[in-house]
Amino acid sequence: MKEFDYVIIGGGCAGLSLAYELERHNKLLDKTLVIIEPRTEYKRDKTWSFWRTFDHNFDDCVIKSWNNFSINTSSNSHELKSEEFPYQSIDSGKFYKKINSKLSSNKNISFFKNQNEINTKNSIIFNSVFEGELDKSKLWQHFQGIEIEAAGNIFDEEIINLMDFNCDQRNNVHFFYTLPFSKNRALIETTWLSDLEDQSLMDYDLQLENYIKNNLRIKNYKINFTEKGAIPLFYPSFKNDNKIINIGSVGGMTRLSTGYTFLNIQEHSKYIAKNIDEIEKIKKFSLGKKYKFLDNVFLKVLKKHPEKMQKIFFNMFKTTSNTVIKFLSNKSNIFEDLSIILKMPKFIFIIALFKK
Ligand SMILES: Cc1cc2nc3c(=O)[nH]c(=O)nc-3n(C[C@H](O)[C@H](O)[C@H](O)COP(=O)(O)OP(=O)(O)OC[C@H]3O[C@@H](n4cnc5c(N)ncnc54)[C@H](O)[C@@H]3O)c2cc1C
Repeated sequence: MKEFDYVIIGGGCAGLSLAYELERHNKLLDKTLVIIEPRTEYKRDKTWSFWRTFDHNFDDCVIKSWNNFSINTSSNSHELKSEEFPYQSIDSGKFYKKINSKLSSNKNISFFKNQNEINTKNSIIFNSVFEGELDKSKLWQHFQGIEIEAAGNIFDEEIINLMDFNCDQRNNVHFFYTLPFSKNRALIETTWLSDLEDQSLMDYDLQLENYIKNNLRIKNYKINFTEKGAIPLFYPSFKNDNKIINIGSVGGMTRLSTGYTFLNIQEHSKYIAKNIDEIEKIKKFSLGKKYKFLDNVFLKVLKKHPEKMQKIFFNMFKTTSNTVIKFLSNKSNIFEDLSIILKMPKFIFIIALFKK
């Protein structure tokens, strides 16, 4: 069986981002890499959005960037603006195409469908695939988005609606998210923060249909693209194996309070590529203990008081735009953290802090 210096299990966002970083920094001139990926074709399956808090490799895959965003509850609405950190959406189809075309020019890079086809005994392994089933009774962010094309020019393409809580909450946390790519084309998502056991929350088609008709007041439209997902808002436990380096969602790159993962994956990929020659010895990359701790408290409150969350999220955005963006993108300093923490209702957060 064939052997390789590096093995990447899963050629999705993290696996391909890492391969791309290694290739562009010439780390694969005298090393071999195999990517294990079962899919037979790559096409657009996701839209990755985030605040651009640092440079990344995929500006040419961006569908659109915005400087304005809003959040609203059933009774309040708030708009923010940031010139420094635009919000961007990436077309995963373009991302896969760009990376695969770059990787195909290096003969040291191979693709296999199954790990059983290779010998990994002497390889460094980067894994982005969850082992076994994840616990459905825990907290997840689950959602469905559709990109619609309306008959007329309906949308204000300069501003995104990050969270619209003016919708049915069903004793959980529910909001809609609208990204206008042009005046008549937008991605609209219904998003829930809940466990995955309650199937009654998953009538996504109907939720989107009602929202588009009743809230956005759009009658005539066609659906160009659909995406669906469930992001675990908890870190699964792993066996400690020094030979395997977990990457992507499996590697803890999801910010648990928000589900944002894409830019963290880019930062992790850069870190690995920079340190590849000593990767088994150096400190593991993480989003930081501070965010792990704060998100843990935040999610305890969310689980216990879902009915309070729209107000809590709304208040979080009542600070300067750059403060909240940096906090949600794990780039905040202690003063920015404090300014967010002080917006939270003290009593229930203190109780959550001491609750197991
Ligand atoms: C629909 C959707 C939208 C999202 N939107 C955003 C967003 O807007 N912003 C953001 O920051 N994050 C977003 N996320 C979260 C996160 O960025 C993505 O899930 C991202 O794809 C995670 O990258 P990954 O490499 O960990 O997993 P994946 O991209 O899922 O890659 C895992 C790969 O492993 C492959 N695989 C599966 N089984 C095996 C196996 N047995 N052996 C080998 N390979 C296998 C899969 O085919 C896949 O290609 C979104 C997630 C989803 C699902």
